[in-house]
Amino acid sequence: MLLRSGWRGIGCGRPAKAEVCRPPAVTHWCLPTLSGVFVSLIGMSRFRLQPTLAREQLLLEHCGHARFVWNLAVEQHAHWQLGRKAAPGFTEHCRQVTQARAANPWLAAGSVMVQQQALKDFGHAMSNFVRRTHRRPTWRRRGQSEGFRIVSVKPGDVRRVSRKVGELRVPKIGWVRLRWSPAVAEGVKSYRVTRDRAGRWQVAFAAVPEPISGPGTGATVGVDRGVVVSAALSTGELLSVPAPRDSEKVRLRKSQRKLARAQRGSSRRGEVKIAIAKLKARETDRRKGWIGKTGTRLARAFDMIAVEDPKISNMTRSAKGTVNAPGQRVRQKAGLNRGMLANGWGLLVTRLEQKAAGRVIKVDPRFTGQRCSACGVVDREARESQAAFRCRSCGFARNADVNAALNIRCAAGHA
Ligand SMILES: [Zn+2]
Repeated sequence: MLLRSGWRGIGCGRPAKAEVCRPPAVTHWCLPTLSGVFVSLIGMSRFRLQPTLAREQLLLEHCGHARFVWNLAVEQHAHWQLGRKAAPGFTEHCRQVTQARAANPWLAAGSVMVQQQALKDFGHAMSNFVRRTHRRPTWRRRGQSEGFRIVSVKPGDVRRVSRKVGELRVPKIGWVRLRWSPAVAEGVKSYRVTRDRAGRWQVAFAAVPEPISGPGTGATVGVDRGVVVSAALSTGELLSVPAPRDSEKVRLRKSQRKLARAQRGSSRRGEVKIAIAKLKARETDRRKGWIGKTGTRLARAFDMIAVEDPKISNMTRSAKGTVNAPGQRVRQKAGLNRGMLANGWGLLVTRLEQKAAGRVIKVDPRFTGQRCSACGVVDREARESQAAFRCRSCGFARNADVNAALNIRCAAGHA
């Protein structure tokens, strides 16, 4: 508490208040921020870390330090208001880290790089917030999205020890075991170590995927963010993220029922939460894998790829359908697609821009769902059902998502 007050005092010259130090009730935790900072900027390849018990304790300490300085920065910025002197930036924060370390042996025992990078990440998150692409960075809590970042990685810091085992050198900790795969890129400059809610450790190396060359035939494709499927191509192909297995769905349902019955704060509740987190994490892995593969496939098969601009929200598209053609099983579909819609689309577009560098056209998605791709008439009532589109002017009938993909292709300047 002493340190916290002192720290904040340095930044904004405002007396400490006890109640300010208590984290406010956080309703939205900063996963959007995390993904925004680390995933949208650069491609990431993730690998499982397999630390020993002793090493795990040390990794948790790094996480704790990162969380501590991040939360201090959050606290400091909470006082900043329009018209005040600028809130402290990264340079000022680094100076304060030095002071805080001098004042607190616990912090000084940790890695200064971990602590400085946590502030750098915070700076990124703040600028994302100012640019209005992400929400305001919020408090980090123990056990949720724990992680830290290491930069200035040297060539010898990631090494392979056997066919499936590698090692990673972490400052102040030493070598940590890593499940090796051929995808571990050479020339790694930085990495981020995370621990998910299921307790799995992962390392993500920052590496931009290598661009893939197109077929050179001038082939153009329009890709639509489908509501019923994950993506529809103007070629008529419908692509979907592999669905969870039936057994997984059953397990998830059972676990959720158990969670509803478990008492708050009980160890049983903790176990059930971990089980649910594991199932959800598997779903995320599957989606990310699918995005990677789909990106590669499209980049290889087409010279130009037209997509909906993920920054423009498409209000006309939803599982609800239209007034005259309401969707069926709306809630279920919305649930199935929420993940793809929320995170997947932006990530797919980012991957495409990396793999098909300079060959991606982003188009305004408005009315793509209601316009007939054959005659161009915009007709709200052309959606016979969620999946079917039938133009009342020219009689053109097609899958609604494919019709939208054709419109996207058309909007990119290719009829
Ligand atoms: Zn028509």
